[in-house]
Amino acid sequence: MPLSERVELIFQDVVKRNPGEVEFHQAVKEVLESVAPVLVKYPEFAEAKIIERICEPERQTIFRVPWVDDNGQVQINRGFRIQFNSALGPYKGGLRFHPSVYLGIIKFLGFEQIFKNSLTGLPIGGAKGGSDFDPKGKSNGEVMRFCQSFMTELYRIIGEHTDVPAGDIGVGGREIGYLFGQYRKLTRRFDGALTGKSLNWGGSNLRPEATGYGAVYFANDMLSTRGESVQGKTAAVSGSGNVAQYTVEKLNTLGARVVTLSDSNGTIVDMDGISGEKLAWVMELKNVRRGRISEYANHFKGAQYLAGKRPWSVPCDLAFPSATQNEIEEDDARQLVQNGCYCVSEGANMPSHADAVEVFLDAKILYGPGKAANAGGVAVSGLEMNQNAGCMRRSREDVDAQLRTIMHSIHENCVKYGRENGFVNYVKGANIAGFVKVADAMVQQGYV
Ligand code: NDP
Repeated sequence: MPLSERVELIFQDVVKRNPGEVEFHQAVKEVLESVAPVLVKYPEFAEAKIIERICEPERQTIFRVPWVDDNGQVQINRGFRIQFNSALGPYKGGLRFHPSVYLGIIKFLGFEQIFKNSLTGLPIGGAKGGSDFDPKGKSNGEVMRFCQSFMTELYRIIGEHTDVPAGDIGVGGREIGYLFGQYRKLTRRFDGALTGKSLNWGGSNLRPEATGYGAVYFANDMLSTRGESVQGKTAAVSGSGNVAQYTVEKLNTLGARVVTLSDSNGTIVDMDGISGEKLAWVMELKNVRRGRISEYANHFKGAQYLAGKRPWSVPCDLAFPSATQNEIEEDDARQLVQNGCYCVSEGANMPSHADAVEVFLDAKILYGPGKAANAGGVAVSGLEMNQNAGCMRRSREDVDAQLRTIMHSIHENCVKYGRENGFVNYVKGANIAGFVKVADAMVQQGYV
């Protein structure tokens, strides 16, 4: 049977075994399409059933999370931890708290994480977890009680050498603090079982900044293949959370002009640029007051609020989707390209729908998929684990230099495996480079 047919059958089996998990199917399909052509070179992968095994998580844990709200009412949420692949090291991947979370979302994120973590060159396996809990509109006390209940179950399966969670959507410094406090109380251990910790108690310099900074470094590396940089360019950024904020900060430092931010209700457009001073206001709005991005347009005259809209109709040279999965659909991608956007660096995970990815690849623009472009976050988390194990802390400059080196080496690997007739297909490059390393490790470690 031809190889492409065999891979298609494996994919159909994944769909059958994981019904209704559309985001997981989307993530698997993309990777299988990229790696199928190279499998001819590696008969040992087929013999060891690497594709079939890599699509099946090593372990999936689903648990009840009961907690009491401020009115004394009992609330029930569902918790997940998908330990997808540990061939390269302890499981590593964030926790997402968002009402849209279900098994298919956590599985797509965990699957992507395997290849992303492999690309960083660090010894970390892939995992993801989370809950359908919505931190929005909850008091600090409610968030704390939820986190404590969540950790009361999760602590049984994590640890500095087994599985090391971090943040993601809805899980920032506040949530990591509450989670770590409960972990420490339950285990009587102060160790590196979580990353994204505060700098005062075991965190790494530059962890909050790492994903956003890394996405900008990756864009700069992609632009350098055309003798350009982000300097002087106009950028559209989506989201207004952790990744978006530090993407804007780094773009400002490197001389670009950022004209948009958004949240799930709408987009603000500020053609004067979201300067450092305006960004500081946004950080206070989102991280302290936990307000909505629409308030920006009331505060800064000249800015416009587009209710219910995404940023992709705003003309720009560079786009940094930094909110959530499938936030760029086919029409958005066409509009971006028509308006002159020629570099997309994904801070978010799988923000471009498969049809949108096709548009970018057909137009031969510089398109950096999330598993490569946003790997800076997990890379610095890996460095945090390393610092915790050695009871030491690296300086901000040192971590930044390592982050740049890692992003640069991911870029080089994408170019190595993704070059096609003078064009770099970063999707193919990232998937093949990430996959081959994990597959080799799985072959060497036997059928486990
Ligand atoms: P945050 O919770 O800090 O911010 C998320 C932002 O995205 C908010 O502005 C939020 O708006 C918006 N958003 C969330 N869901 C939706 C939705 N369904 N539609 C539109 N907007 C939405 O999360 P992060 O910044 O940490 O994460 C952003 C993305 O980056 C995610 O895809 C995450 O997986 C990815 N990522 C994060 C890393 C990290 O280190 N934090 C590492 C690698 C990837 P609202 O307030 O309205 O919900």
